[in-house]
This record gives sequence, structure tokens and C-alpha cells, in this order.
Amino acid sequence: MSVIVAISTAPGNSGIGIVRMSGKECFEILDKIFMPKTKNKTGEIKGYTIKYGYVHDLNNKEIIDEVLVSYFKEPKSYTTENMCEINCHGGTVVLKKILEQCIEAGARMAEAGEFTKLAFLNGRIDLSQAESIIDLINSKTEKEAKASIKGLEGELSIKINQVREKILDLMADIEVNIDYPEYDVPEISYSKEKTVLENIKGELEKLEKSFETGRILKEGIKTAIIGRPNVGKSSLLNLMLKEERAIVSDIEGTTRDTIEEMIQIEGIPLKIIDTAGIRDTADEIESIGVDKAKKIANEADLIIAIFDASKEISKEDKYILEIIKNKKSIIVLNKIDLGKKIKLPIKINNIVEISIKTKQGIDELYKNIIELFNIGEIESDQSIIITNIRHKNKITNSIEALKKAISGIEEKLPVDIISINIIQCLNELGEITGDNVSEDIINKIFSKFCLGK
Ligand code: GDP
Repeated sequence: MSVIVAISTAPGNSGIGIVRMSGKECFEILDKIFMPKTKNKTGEIKGYTIKYGYVHDLNNKEIIDEVLVSYFKEPKSYTTENMCEINCHGGTVVLKKILEQCIEAGARMAEAGEFTKLAFLNGRIDLSQAESIIDLINSKTEKEAKASIKGLEGELSIKINQVREKILDLMADIEVNIDYPEYDVPEISYSKEKTVLENIKGELEKLEKSFETGRILKEGIKTAIIGRPNVGKSSLLNLMLKEERAIVSDIEGTTRDTIEEMIQIEGIPLKIIDTAGIRDTADEIESIGVDKAKKIANEADLIIAIFDASKEISKEDKYILEIIKNKKSIIVLNKIDLGKKIKLPIKINNIVEISIKTKQGIDELYKNIIELFNIGEIESDQSIIITNIRHKNKITNSIEALKKAISGIEEKLPVDIISINIIQCLNELGEITGDNVSEDIINKIFSKFCLGK
């Protein structure tokens, strides 16, 4: 078994950098390049101990850096093997040099995600937990990180295993019928089987549905701010961007001056679409036309429709009300500081009166957004949220297989035909936790990790 090594901290200069090794013989390799201040035989050093000393060049013994080394002994480590982490100064040159010394002393360069892959292959975590680690590292918002932590703690795995247990119980009954049809085993009750499968399908559909929340946590609530000229669209956008609680973050692949901006309200991500349009007066409803407004509204998860409360309702305002009729939307009556003149022609539930100028009603607007998406409850809610598209696809496939099994029962097909679909469902679920998954898929999943994780 080889010892693997990698720099685990992000590239670039920083206060501290970490070089990490894992493998049965990693302490022997460490001994060749590390001089601890107080000498102990490696075998005497307990796990979860930190030792202070110097890393030196293997050949000319020149000191490279002053370091702290953490020791983790098998099986109580991230990978379940012997591990050590060399905490050195975070300069690129120092880190590279220490890495080179480890390699020269006998370690080999780790592949991307190899530490976590070992944790999976050695049975400390399952596949969905490993994937939650990537999701956690890549989280862009607090809530997404929270959902990933739940995955890391194994909540999804527990749920999937419970469902699989139920299916296996049912399969056991069915198998008896297939294997020993000549025996006088009571015929499986088709109606009982159907009820069990339908319950399981319901549980899986709930999980599948949670992906919509998961997607929002990951990508943000796609929000469009629409309204006729001068109602305060760009003022609201600027206010949201400036508010302390609205942390602006870059979206992968886009830059700040393009058309999307991600902000957070109480940890909930909003992706404001067409911000360029909002800032550019060319986006005014009269010049862009109803079609463009409709298009933006169609792309959005949420529409914030702004009206000038101090004016009579206009023709454009009525267009907007028409466009948002069947969409998740919040009507914002702005400029309430100038008095309220507007009368809406229809009864609408989600109305907030605000003044961007005096900040009146802004908290209520945020509260409304959170309530509309039920996301505020994630923290207290015990239910699992699927954030990973691979998991979602596997759940969708398993539901499809169950549907086939259920219609097979309705058509009174032979049990061995029905059982093919049930086994298919089991296999799909098994691929989530990694119980039956091909090496190719495993390699593909771990290659998405960063080096040193
Ligand atoms: P947009 O064309 O919809 O983006 O509107 P703007 O954000 O550019 O705002 C138009 C004008 O209304 C600006 O002069 C703002 O200062 C003003 N305004 C925005 N919100 C308020 C408000 O709540 N009260 C008052 N009195 N003026 C506001």
C-alpha cells in the first residue's frame, strides 16, 4: 500500500498551509524529513497529537520550515489509515518544497479527491456522504452548506437504506414465490404488495420534490424585479446589494457586470436576473414591450413587481399585473412616504408597502420572500433536502421503476416480471449510497474534488 501526499490548502500565499499524508507507512516517511523538538519514537506518539519541530531537506538536511505536525492513527483518521498533517507557513515555495520532500522520502502524489475516496473505499463514509463533502466545500450560501452538512451526517443514506430495507422485505416474500412455485406458500397478496410499493413511491417522491428547494439553495431564487420607469427598481436593487445582510457573491462563470447578481437575504440566495436591464432604462416596460417582460417573468422563480404607490395605476401597471397573474410574485407598492394614491384593480394577497427612501417596510418585504419559499424553516425542519443532481436522477429512476412494478401488479403480470422492476428500483437506490456502483462512476465523482481533499 502506498502513502499518498498532497497540499490540502488553497493555492496562493497564506498564513498557514497544510501538506497531508495518508498510508500505513506515512510516519516512517515523515520521520525522514521531520525533526521534532522533543524526540519520540513514532510508535509512541498517540493519535490526535501535535508535535512541534522542523522539516528539513532529505539530502542536505537544510531546514525548510518550522512546522506543527498533527498525528492521526488508524483507524481514527479521515481516511481510516495512518495520517499526518504538516502545518507549515503558507508560502507557495515552502509548501511545494515540503511536498517534494515527502515524495522523495517515498510518498506518491495523491489524485484529486483521493483522501475522501479512501474514506469511502475503507467504509468510513458512503458515496452520498462523500458527495456532500464536495457540496459543502462548494457551497455558496449558508443554507446550502446546512443542507450539505445533513448529507454529510448521513441523513440521506439512513433514509435511502430504510426504503431499501422495506423493498427487500417485500422482495423476500416475492422471491419465495419465484423460487418455490411448487410449494404451497401462500400466494403473495397483490393488493398488499401494491400498497407497500405505493407508500414507498410516496416517500421517494417527497425526496424528489425536495430537489426544487435544493436547487434554489444551490443556485438561488431566480428573481426578476419588474415595473414601469421610475418606480424604484434600481433603487431597490441597490438597496438589496448594499444591505449588510445581502452579501454579494460572484456566480460561477459570470462577472459582476453581466446580467445576474447573487445576493443573500438571511442566508437565502436570490439570483437577480436581468440586472443589466434594471439598471439600463432601456428595460422600461413601454420600450421593451410586453413580450420581453413576459420572457423575464417566465424564467423567474420569483417576481418582485414594483408600483409607484403615490400615483394612480397606469396602463403599464395593468400589463404587469396581467403578466404575473400565475407566477410566484410579490407586489411592492413603493414611495409610500409620498402618500398612497394607487388602487389595484384586483385583490392580491402578497402586497408590501414600502419606501426605499425611508426604508419603511423593507424588513417585511424580506420576510415575505422567505415565507413564500418556505426556506426559512429549513433549519428547524428535520426533512432531508436533495441538493445533488446525481441523487435526484437516481431517485427519479427508482420512482419510474416502482411505477412499472405497480402497473405490473395492476395488470396481474407474473411475479418474476414485477420483481425485475423492483430490483431495478433497489439498484438505482443502491447507487446513491454506493452499495452497487461501478468503478467508473466512483472515479468520476471523486475527480470533481479538489486536490488534497
Ligand atoms: P427605476 O426606473 O424603476 O429603476 O427607478 P429608480 O430606482 O431609478 O427611481 C426613480 C426615482 O424615484 C429616483 O429619483 C429615486 O430616488 C426615487 N425613489 C425611489 N424610491 C423612492 C421612495 O421610496 N420614495 C421616494 N420619495 N422616492 C423614491
